Amino acid sequence: TSNNEDTEKKESIRCLTTLSHFGFECLPYQLVTKSMEQGFSFNILCVGETGIGKSTLINTLFNTNLKDSRSSHFYPNVGLRIQTSDLQESNVQLKLTVVKTVGYGDQINKEGSYQPIIDYIDAQFEAYLQEELKIKRSFKYQDSRIHVCLYFISPTGHSLKSLDLLTMKSIDRKVNIIPLIAKADTVSKNDLQKFKSKIMSELISSGIQIYHFPTDDETVAQINSSMNAILPFAVVGSTDEVKVGKRVVRGRHYPWGVLQVENENHCDFVKLRDMLLRTNMEDLKEQTHIHHYECYRYRKLRKMGFTDVGPDNQPISFQEIYEAKRLQFYEQCHREEEELKKRFMQQVKDRETAFKDAEKELQDKFEHLKRIQQEEIMKLEEERRQLEEEIIEFCKTKAACETLQTQPCTNIKKD
Ligand code: GDP
Repeated sequence: TSNNEDTEKKESIRCLTTLSHFGFECLPYQLVTKSMEQGFSFNILCVGETGIGKSTLINTLFNTNLKDSRSSHFYPNVGLRIQTSDLQESNVQLKLTVVKTVGYGDQINKEGSYQPIIDYIDAQFEAYLQEELKIKRSFKYQDSRIHVCLYFISPTGHSLKSLDLLTMKSIDRKVNIIPLIAKADTVSKNDLQKFKSKIMSELISSGIQIYHFPTDDETVAQINSSMNAILPFAVVGSTDEVKVGKRVVRGRHYPWGVLQVENENHCDFVKLRDMLLRTNMEDLKEQTHIHHYECYRYRKLRKMGFTDVGPDNQPISFQEIYEAKRLQFYEQCHREEEELKKRFMQQVKDRETAFKDAEKELQDKFEHLKRIQQEEIMKLEEERRQLEEEIIEFCKTKAACETLQTQPCTNIKKD
């Protein structure tokens, strides 16, 4: 009977549905409004050979026309071109930064072609870390860390090039890599399947970690895992509008027909756009922050001597490490100062001895010259004395002669 009463009671209770939201259930809406006001930012790195279709694909993805001059094939080194633009879709603002390689794969010696890419990625992490460490941080700081790297593979139908493997290997721990087969319209359907599996097996055997669409959120788990299975995406880019029947579509017009970029039977462009922009953009940004940036930050702070636990496994505070580092620095400065002083004193001493030696040498030389001069004077004195004696002798002789000449000759006989 009590059961019956309970069910009757339950049936008599009116259920009212709320017309609006109350309390903290509104929090997500507040976040949405705030984010919409602030706008969003997304940074893409495009790595691939010159003319492989990087600019075209970006313009197709964002339905825009980022003005870009055609790259030459004759750059001596690999460089990067950075373009930032403000895009708007409905009332969502997006600050898009596209970083493209310039001259990639064009040099005869390709050694170190990936170095400028690594340097750029690290420099953005470093800038973010420096901003974080500032006492007065800017809340308007423009995050320039790369959220995704679209790696453009040449549609050779064979396998990856060694440059592809080397570059991907050297950046896979720093950035989320999504591999793409560029200009996929140049590969036949059968070859494409074989090419895809070849690429994936090569990536796995080389231990390269590419980005996998997350499968932990059940709302997107199914679609994401099915997309993971068809990587790398075989894409075609075009901003040209082509007429197909009565519709105007974006595609590439060939003598044999039209390739529609947004037709899933023709290429994986739509899949890429959905995965990159619609489903996983936030995850790409999150992975960049909590995974790649975190690794960089960890390595950098460790290198600077910071650690969370001491040798005894006890936590060490930031303050303690800072004090210890400062002390160590002062001690090192003091040691270096002492060393410098010592070296300076030694140099002064050495100079002093050298001066003394030179002075002594000069003095000796002077004495020697003085002696020679005195001897010379004495010799001259002697010669003068002799000369004077000779003069006197001469004068005497002269006087005698003169006397003899003036005396009358007495003993001359007279005739
Ligand atoms: P980037 O140097 O990598 O930026 O290459 P571009 O985007 O400037 O493209 C170079 C040339 O390739 C242009 O003539 C494009 O029309 C062409 N192109 C771009 N994407 C594709 C594609 O998917 N398929 C084919 N067949 N050609 C493409």
